[in-house]
Amino acid sequence: MAWEEAKSKNDFSIFMPHLEKMVDYKRKFANFYGYEKHPYDALLNEYEMGMTVEKLDKVFASLRDEIVNILSKVRESKVSIDENILEGKFSIEKQKELEKYVLDLIGYDYKHRGRIDSSEHPFTTNFGNKDVRITNHYHENNFYSAMYSAIHEGGHAIYEQQINDDLEKYGLQSGVSMGIHESQSRFYENIIGKSKSFLKLVYPKVQEIFEEFRSVPFKNFYKVFNIACPSLIRTEADELTYSLHVIIRYEIEKELIKGEIEVKDLKEIWNNKYEEYLGVRPQNDSEGILQDMHWSDGGFGYFPSYALGNIYGAQFLNSALKDMPNLYSEIEKGNLNDIKVWLKENIHQYGKLYEPAELLKKVTGEELDSKYFVEYLRNKFKDVYEF
Ligand SMILES: [Zn+2]
Repeated sequence: MAWEEAKSKNDFSIFMPHLEKMVDYKRKFANFYGYEKHPYDALLNEYEMGMTVEKLDKVFASLRDEIVNILSKVRESKVSIDENILEGKFSIEKQKELEKYVLDLIGYDYKHRGRIDSSEHPFTTNFGNKDVRITNHYHENNFYSAMYSAIHEGGHAIYEQQINDDLEKYGLQSGVSMGIHESQSRFYENIIGKSKSFLKLVYPKVQEIFEEFRSVPFKNFYKVFNIACPSLIRTEADELTYSLHVIIRYEIEKELIKGEIEVKDLKEIWNNKYEEYLGVRPQNDSEGILQDMHWSDGGFGYFPSYALGNIYGAQFLNSALKDMPNLYSEIEKGNLNDIKVWLKENIHQYGKLYEPAELLKKVTGEELDSKYFVEYLRNKFKDVYEF
């Protein structure tokens, strides 16, 4: 409640004493829980079993530097992308038609083993693997938010639906961790959903449903979903800069939990990091330090899952492409079943049977490594910004 008030009044000092208590509690918790090297490991483990500061420091630092590097190329690019093509009024009914079309394509079974409802924020929930439901939120002035939320939640839902029936009796019939879950939703949303092949496949349908796109060339349609533009708000960030928002929170959290920095210094540290990595500086607390609710309910250690999902996803993509070199041309033809089956066989069927690192090793033969995600980002934004 203090966070809500602080955010609406744009005043971090209202939230500060409460956050200090929360951090103090989390520091104590880490000590009770136990850890080998870094107290933050205890908190990470709550969301991503086996994850440590030692592993993340290495992976996140190189990812941060590489993204900053790609971003500088984007900044130098002469390509300008017309965002106005996405403006208009889009009826909810038509948006729901498009939503069902993309969900049928990716293969989320909402007819017999699921449901689609609406809520303020989209989410996925399930009761075993035979009742996996998603929600969505529709905005009349924007059709793509609901389209991509549907694909994202559809990715979570396909994961749950494809877990092996036999795991139910062992209590292992659910996704293994936040990071692996996000890897599946983001795989569908970004790696597939924002690829040229997928957008080519869905564009005729979009043009059929929303007439205003009939005169828009495909190139513009493809590029507008792959804009890279540094901004202040994590939840609105593009695919390139998103992970930087997460890495900033990670760097702050681990030092805070270890007692290397204090709550009173957070605002300055936050703003400086945004300026250093993204080149933008928050002008007030609600677009800076107060934007996310996670810290107000003690969710320290959770943020890294979002970036881990991106890193895992690109590592899985690299393996999938070895098995299916024609993956993207198949997608363009409308075949999204091969990738769904591949994800089932390699990842989904196992539920919680393997810990995240074991699963990653089993699928890719490698440890956590951000190089595939960097390569993926570089290729994509090279294509979009023509550098
Ligand atoms: Zn998600």
